[in-house]
Amino acid sequence: MPAPSDALFSELVEQARAAAREVRRVAGEARDVGESSRQARRRSELLRRFLLQWQSNPDYLIRRCAWCGRLAVGDEFVHPRDFLRGDVPARVQEHATHGICPDCLDEVNAAAAAARSGSPLGGTCG
Ligand SMILES: [Zn+2]
Repeated sequence: MPAPSDALFSELVEQARAAAREVRRVAGEARDVGESSRQARRRSELLRRFLLQWQSNPDYLIRRCAWCGRLAVGDEFVHPRDFLRGDVPARVQEHATHGICPDCLDEVNAAAAAARSGSPLGGTCG
């Protein structure tokens, strides 16, 4: 039986490299599918909670942050693009009452505190 040739060895090396590329490609696709699945679950959960708060209270008012545009979904504020599609965000906005979300309130308060501390009328006194 003859020894394996250099050509056969080279062919096997090439096949091993191709197999490694295939592993990386499939792993990348698996990551993408996992991310898509995670986003779909999150969107479904947001829609379910958004509907539940509406369904459980006939007088429910959609709350929208006037600063960042996010909508109240339970106890969190979520950007409409994260769970609404088509013309629904604009239609929801037409029926929303406006307020301020906790994140924007923190920013407004911090800006106000900074403005006060730089003002001759605000900040700490000597
Ligand atoms: Zn906000």
